[in-house]
Amino acid sequence: MSFSFPWQTDVQYLKGIGPKRAFLLKKLHIHTLEDLLYFVPFRYEDRAELKKIAHLTAGKTETVEGEVMAVSLSETPRRRMKIVDVTISDASGLLHAKWFNQHYLKNYFKKGDRVMFSGLVKENYFGSRTIEMENPRYERVETDKALHMDRIVPVYHETKGFTSKQIRSVLKQVLARYADQIPEILPLLLLERYRLLPLFEAIQQIHFPEKETDIILLNQGRSPAHRRLIFDELFILQTGLALRKKGMSEKVSGIAFKVNGLSPHSLKKLLPFSLTAAQERVFSEICADMSKPFVMNRLIQGDVGCGKTLVALMSILVAIDNARQTALMAPTEILAVQHYLSLKAYLHALGKSVFLLTSDMRKKEKDEVLSAVASGNCDLLIGTHALIQKAVVFKNLGLVVVDEQHKFGVLQRVTLLKKGRQPELLILTATPIPRTLALTLYGDLSLSVIDELPPGRSPIHTRLHYGNKREGVYRFIATEIQKGRQAFVVCPLVDISEKLDLKAAVERFETFKTEVFPNLNIALLHGKMKRDEKEKIMTAFREGKINLLVATTVVEVGIDIPNATVMAIEHAERFGLSQLHQLRGRVGRGSEQSYCLMIADYPISKEGKRRLKAMVQTTDGFKIAEEDLSIRGPGEFFGTKQSGLPSLHVANLIRDVKILEVARKEAFDWVETHAMLEDVESRPIRDFLERKWRGKLEWLSIA
Ligand code: ADP
Ligand code: MG
Repeated sequence: MSFSFPWQTDVQYLKGIGPKRAFLLKKLHIHTLEDLLYFVPFRYEDRAELKKIAHLTAGKTETVEGEVMAVSLSETPRRRMKIVDVTISDASGLLHAKWFNQHYLKNYFKKGDRVMFSGLVKENYFGSRTIEMENPRYERVETDKALHMDRIVPVYHETKGFTSKQIRSVLKQVLARYADQIPEILPLLLLERYRLLPLFEAIQQIHFPEKETDIILLNQGRSPAHRRLIFDELFILQTGLALRKKGMSEKVSGIAFKVNGLSPHSLKKLLPFSLTAAQERVFSEICADMSKPFVMNRLIQGDVGCGKTLVALMSILVAIDNARQTALMAPTEILAVQHYLSLKAYLHALGKSVFLLTSDMRKKEKDEVLSAVASGNCDLLIGTHALIQKAVVFKNLGLVVVDEQHKFGVLQRVTLLKKGRQPELLILTATPIPRTLALTLYGDLSLSVIDELPPGRSPIHTRLHYGNKREGVYRFIATEIQKGRQAFVVCPLVDISEKLDLKAAVERFETFKTEVFPNLNIALLHGKMKRDEKEKIMTAFREGKINLLVATTVVEVGIDIPNATVMAIEHAERFGLSQLHQLRGRVGRGSEQSYCLMIADYPISKEGKRRLKAMVQTTDGFKIAEEDLSIRGPGEFFGTKQSGLPSLHVANLIRDVKILEVARKEAFDWVETHAMLEDVESRPIRDFLERKWRGKLEWLSIA
């Protein structure tokens, strides 16, 4: 092909744009012609469906058009929220729209503007009936109606100075000029197999759907045009992952460990329990990987408390039996300390050495650890991301274990791996997401699932109490402690100012000590404390010398105290769902009945209520993760920026999980049968991939 499509042309050189508008488009992350063509409308409007205000139905999501009559800004008395109130009118009636904490909207709307609002209709009766929408989607309607009168109209995200309407006009021009030249990228075989629209047609249709297109499908992102672009996006994503994986497993030779050493057996003899079948299975999957002369890249997924740490310890012992060192990286210092304390007991009993490295160590102490690591006198080094510092040099690093992977970026992982010559990698995560999603998010990894909890654990009773019932919760804690158990009370760290939050935890601690539980041993634990102090408190708590631990969220991951049976969470409405689930996982680790008591204070947001409800309804981490995904949406849930994957524009990993599965299979097959995509048919795929994954395929060669 001699002609190549100008995907990369800077938008400022496109007709009707120019430098000023290009500058505005860049705020919407549109830099090139390609970005613009793929700037998918977030909504479609069937203008024939516009309702008169008088005919709106409460409880339905509807769209109206009207003229701005009044704009005002007020503040709620208690929580100091700013409210912008806009009243619009059409010939039939008035509608009040309210936005919370978006005071800039006060200047966006001007009296006399024509606007469209789309949102959930509410009725209120204060004396008379009023019609309202809270935080509706909005658009200013310009007077020129040429495009705007199309039956189905695309609505785009706007930026200040560039309205949806203007973006629509620009796209109309750009498509008129380029649409029929857009080259096909998918092989014919796939187009036919999945009955996909040709690319040029899909792009045309996604912006300007034909009149008969089903508006409901369009708005759900399920129209034929959407399906085609979603398929592309996921296919390319999976092709990238397939290449990455191929590069890793075929190119990267690693250490072939002997896996029949003595230490894992000795450990099993030390344990007061036997491994669950799931732990055994996962450990044998790890052994199979480690014994091969290729690098292991394995993710261990399992709900809180399923015993991932123990499986990791078994693997660490395999490395030690082969005279290799292990680095274990934890996301928080508390967790690193916790791992250190619990693993030390086992490792010392087996005659192995373990050290802890943290950022706040004194220089002398740190130097001692570093020299043990460099000389090979340290079998296992545990720490936070302090481990990736230059000064940390291993004699013979053979295994890297990363706990709670989602807290780290890919880069940190790679930096740590580079401290050894092809060390094996084991990642532990308590986020139980569906298999295909996991394989996508951690596309270059193999997956093992521990889908079983140790026996004898009874499900944790979870209850929700409102703030006015606090005393009751405290009394309950007191009776549990009388029975010889221990309890946590967690206070959130969510305020903008950490200081204020800390103050809240400290105050709670003080009133507990002096008023609520004067006869108990209470301690306070928070992130700002010195390490020795934290270590001292945790040891005392573990030994049962402390009855009640008041903590900020530092206990979130990993603390393991089998005798603790109560997890009370103050201001539970402020925590994220997975955080709540993690916190709950801190109890229920022994054989006694355990309790998670959530104390919530009004006001509670709609999402807050959903989170609390989910917690009460299920202890199944898988269901929790699904609910969390659906509340937060995939972007926030996965933090895709961290994951080292290109961002998705059309596809939604939850909604499109079926397409994801198909696309994954096809992509992996394609990469398998077309070598490095160097043939003619693969060329467009490869080009697309290179544009989408700008730079990110380098991982192929670094890892
Ligand atoms: P995770 O890291 O998966 O949240 P841990 O490895 O911290 O879980 O284990 C939780 C608790 O369960 C620890 O006290 C651990 O000693 C214990 N445990 C692990 N495996 C078993 C088992 N097979 N039987 C009984 N208890 C176990
Ligand atoms: Mg753990």
